[in-house]
Amino acid sequence: MMNATELFQQLTGSAPERVWSAPGRANLIGEHTDYNEGFVLPFAIEHRTHAAVGRRSDNIIRVASTFDPNPVEVALVELPALFGGAPGEAVSSGAVPEWAAYPLGVAWAALARADAKHDDVAGLDIAINSEVPVGAGLSSSAAIEGATAGAIDDVWGLGLTLLDMAKIGRTAENHAVGAPTGIMDQVSSLMGETDAATFLDCRTLETQEVELGFAREGLKILVIDTKVKHAHSTGGYRERRESCEKGARELGVSSLRDITVGDLDRARSVLDDVTFRRVAHIVTENQRVLDTVDTLRAEGPRAIGGLLVASHVSMRDDFEISVPELDTAVTAALEAGAIGARMTGGGFGGAAIAVVEADKLAATKEAVASAFARAGFVEPHQFTVTPSHGLLRDA
Ligand code: ADP
Ligand code: MG
Repeated sequence: MMNATELFQQLTGSAPERVWSAPGRANLIGEHTDYNEGFVLPFAIEHRTHAAVGRRSDNIIRVASTFDPNPVEVALVELPALFGGAPGEAVSSGAVPEWAAYPLGVAWAALARADAKHDDVAGLDIAINSEVPVGAGLSSSAAIEGATAGAIDDVWGLGLTLLDMAKIGRTAENHAVGAPTGIMDQVSSLMGETDAATFLDCRTLETQEVELGFAREGLKILVIDTKVKHAHSTGGYRERRESCEKGARELGVSSLRDITVGDLDRARSVLDDVTFRRVAHIVTENQRVLDTVDTLRAEGPRAIGGLLVASHVSMRDDFEISVPELDTAVTAALEAGAIGARMTGGGFGGAAIAVVEADKLAATKEAVASAFARAGFVEPHQFTVTPSHGLLRDA
């Protein structure tokens, strides 16, 4: 397949000024806690999305992707009308294909955050190519947002920080695409470091790098992509978010971050059963993230298996976002001797991760593949990911 530079060349007939890239991410633990102002522990992976960019002499922004044969162009002056609906309103204009709303939404949000006007900056050509599988729970969306934000910041000279870019990506996703997701994916993609995870407090947006030690200890992270597709802009994700808001409201707190494991008995007596179980997942998951950070630092990566498994069980039984394919993946990996395993990402499909001894990798993959075959599921796509660095200027 063509890379971003080649696509840029084909699009414009000249070489790009710059190429930036940002990775996908996997979440080690902390699921659906981000929009509840809680804790997450994701890491960037080696699969990256590249954005090649060059300025134009007019005020048009044109985006192209190896995903789609047709480039999309709009005048910079039109971006606010496309995406800038009422605050909080998810604007999915339909005027551009959904994929183009990611890079165009980033351009719109970057101008707004930098307090720049459309006539302060040059038009752009942006060509995008991605190695990150889409809809597999590895956040190809944050990767395209991050790569685009890095490229735009550079050629427009906006002076944005990584945290600014993360917020811009979230704004694009929430308001241009219309997916009500949190900020974890963007922070993780942009700020990743080699063999480390990013501990993010989603309330304060403070981050700490947490060494994983997987490489040192000879451990691999196996991703089991079930090929069951999810869509975050619709359905279950939104419903879970609403349940969390309801739970917080009925418990009299601004977000579930303010509820701790010790408060759960009271919560059970106040809330209906479903809302209680949604709340219980968030509250216990926050504690598991804190425990995972402490355990990694005190005992190392082999000691976190029980926390990963408890996280999966909580998502399966209390938050109810797993699917049979994900449960099968986790069970088969654990039976084959994985240190820990859990579904990762927003749920309703996507991928599971398993932490596996390097010398058990092949046997674990085989065990998972045969469990899927026995259950009559489509063969999963299995591959390893390596915790890697975040945003980079490539050229
Ligand atoms: P994921 O879990 O992969 O982030 P999302 O539904 O959040 O799944 O985002 C996937 C969407 O992001 C795609 O459907 C597409 O619209 C957009 N996208 C991701 N990567 C690219 C790319 N390289 N080119 C064009 N669009 C992309
Ligand atoms: Mg996404």
